[in-house]
Amino acid sequence: MKRLSRKTTFIIIVVLMILTVITIYGFNHHRLVNKLQPVKECVSNCTNAATLPSPPTPFIPNQQLDEKQRFLSTVAKKLSTVPQPNTFEYILLRAYGAVFLNQELEVKLPQKVILATEQEAQEFQATLTMAQVDGTKDCYLQKSAADALNKARILQNIPLKSGYAGDCTRDFTTNLHFWQKYANNQVLEQVQQGKETKILGTVAPPGTSQHLWGLAIDLRVSSPAQRQALNQNGWFQTVEHDVPHWTYIGWTEENLSKFGLKNQVVGGITYWLTPI
Ligand SMILES: [Zn+2]
Repeated sequence: MKRLSRKTTFIIIVVLMILTVITIYGFNHHRLVNKLQPVKECVSNCTNAATLPSPPTPFIPNQQLDEKQRFLSTVAKKLSTVPQPNTFEYILLRAYGAVFLNQELEVKLPQKVILATEQEAQEFQATLTMAQVDGTKDCYLQKSAADALNKARILQNIPLKSGYAGDCTRDFTTNLHFWQKYANNQVLEQVQQGKETKILGTVAPPGTSQHLWGLAIDLRVSSPAQRQALNQNGWFQTVEHDVPHWTYIGWTEENLSKFGLKNQVVGGITYWLTPI
């Protein structure tokens, strides 16, 4: 066999050395990667978490706008179409619309002010995350609202109005029965035409109650300390003349006027009313 030249031998040695280095490095690298697997997982998870969309910041309307414009521009974020003046929907938004200012991520609101049928109401309610009000048997609200109310009720003893489930979230049929107890179809027509509004402070027309949305409760409140505990936790009286009725807006009191709500004292009760 022909002897290899020095040059060829040198090249073979160099190639062998490179192969050895690659093999050793590859083996160690593989071991290193295995060892670091959980870290790598964390890195990839962290990267995924970083790329998730961050929660939207709450909408605060331009404070140069008037109250009405501030209110309407905020509720426009929730409603598929903002009701036009001189419609039944506009009357309802005026009476019950304060709740549409709630911007908590966990809180769900219907995209319109009327849930026209039992089925529509059921479909909406099926999307809600509910929680029990502490110390009650069957009083449920949307979880954020229940949590906030429970905090207020730790500060103060605040009883439910009747103590029954009807004080809390109602279904379509219960809303309808309450309406039929105080009003009828003739009154409904008058309300729809804007000829009668006072009834809205006693009972909500079918499919329109804040109680359907899991964001209202009827309470027995008599002292300023009870009111303060509720206000501090995002609960306010928003329906004029409906004294036991409390609405979960989820904002503290100093924020409410930013959205155009008006602080109004009626019959000794401080309400936060819509400006429309
Ligand atoms: Zn009520």
